[in-house]
Amino acid sequence: MLSDHISPGKRGITLVYDTIDLAKSRIKSRLERDWEHQCQTKDKLRTYRSFKTEMGTASHLNCNLPKFQRSLISQLRLGILPIRIETGRFTGLNEAERLCQLCTQNQIENEAHFMFDCNLYAPYRQELETGIGADFSIMNTTDKFNAVFSHPYMLGRYMEKSYRMRREKLYNS
Ligand SMILES: [Zn+2]
Repeated sequence: MLSDHISPGKRGITLVYDTIDLAKSRIKSRLERDWEHQCQTKDKLRTYRSFKTEMGTASHLNCNLPKFQRSLISQLRLGILPIRIETGRFTGLNEAERLCQLCTQNQIENEAHFMFDCNLYAPYRQELETGIGADFSIMNTTDKFNAVFSHPYMLGRYMEKSYRMRREKLYNS
């Protein structure tokens, strides 16, 4: 009686394997569903999907940019720049709670806030606008992103200065 339970026999083992296979395929389809959902909603592909330039290529990759700037631009494009919209994900904050800690504008610190809204980087933004010959105040967000992505050198400079300032304010004050 007892030994029946301890050694289930061949049929029992087959049953165990079947159960494992079933669990695996359930997990796989669950992951696939999640991935599709993420692509359709936001998260990782948020910036890339919304602000892909008309060229369809990442023009900054063909430029002789300093490594740090190139990396920042790539992270911006992919929506993985470590600003609060992204880092808040790891600390379990709801999206609405991932506010910018560097200004008093009470806005979510997402890519658009970092690039076009946060007061902290206003002087650098002015240089950027002048450099690319644009007036952000009369442009929508998509046009602004398209404009900066087609000027990788100016974008790289803005991002490096702003990101360094952000880091300094957050961690050295
Ligand atoms: Zn801000």
